[in-house]
Amino acid sequence: MRGYTYGEQPSDRSIVKLNTNENPFPPSPKIRETLVNLDLEELRRYPDATSSVLREHIAARFGLTSGQVLITNGGDEAIRLVATACLTRNDVMVSSEPGYSLYPVIANVLNARWLPMELGHDFRPDAEAARRCIGQRARLVCMPNPNAPSGVLLTAQEVDAFAARFRGPLLIDEAYVDFIEPALKHDLVPLLARHRNLLLLRTFSKGYSLAGARVGYLLGEESFIEELATKVRDSYNVNCISQIVALAAFGDQEHARKTWEVVRLERQRVSDVLRERGFNVPDSQANFVLPQRCDKASLGDTYERLRDSKILVRYFKTTRLYDRLRVTIGTRTQNDAFLKAL
Ligand SMILES: *Cc1c(COP(=O)(O)O)cnc(C)c1O
Repeated sequence: MRGYTYGEQPSDRSIVKLNTNENPFPPSPKIRETLVNLDLEELRRYPDATSSVLREHIAARFGLTSGQVLITNGGDEAIRLVATACLTRNDVMVSSEPGYSLYPVIANVLNARWLPMELGHDFRPDAEAARRCIGQRARLVCMPNPNAPSGVLLTAQEVDAFAARFRGPLLIDEAYVDFIEPALKHDLVPLLARHRNLLLLRTFSKGYSLAGARVGYLLGEESFIEELATKVRDSYNVNCISQIVALAAFGDQEHARKTWEVVRLERQRVSDVLRERGFNVPDSQANFVLPQRCDKASLGDTYERLRDSKILVRYFKTTRLYDRLRVTIGTRTQNDAFLKAL
């Protein structure tokens, strides 16, 4: 099997880093206070095994019970927990393609089979592809929404219809949910009451500028969450420092919201400039864009030359993505540096 290729994390801080979809703004300043006041006794002891305080805060915000929330060591652990619970040898996992390339790696290491649900040119699953997947008796379907790497958003109605037709576990990976335009009033949480097979994945890595702290969570049906929590998860899957850091960040919605607003404005600006220059840019609701050369020539050399000028973006050398770059939305200064170098 092939391993997962993660985005480069260069030590050179002068590099304009637009390659791994981090939030370009620092996390809430309230976190510093929490860390300075950390009682070292917390480190001597094992952490709160179920991250109960954070879990209750998250449940309260979404009008759920704390039994419907599972805190994980980053969103990636949530994917692995769900896959471990659902898949055994030769079982089928289906996920959007293009999509998040970690899904097939997790399926393969479990000796499960991975099948792509091919997305159309507009990065939406066409009805035929969706029907084929459901017909494959998939044991688990994973869909990033907004889609990665395009940023294209499926509406709540589309997810609702899919969850009703595919009765098996459906993991909607909402890693980028915070960057969705509020005017769209997109909210999948109410669907949890209608579909026992639905799981929503969230993370503090993107929206709350905490990729380094490794905290994510799952929202789902209570008995499903309990199975994951008691049988699949490591007992102490989230360390005490990450729990308090995430709690402080979650408590400071105002700070996080401000960063999302700037990212949205910059996303629009960068998309507009790229379109004026003749790139095709799918409408992104995430904190990245995926411009495509209109003549469909490769952008491999462009990626390399941007890299030489210390601008790091992501390039996927696949038949679907070779003529595109995935560019994280940075600060205005970073975006300008990218556009100028491009
Ligand atoms: C970033 C990301 C995640 C989760 O990342 P963590 O840092 O592990 O929380 C999950 N899915 C997608 C599509 C992502 O881009």
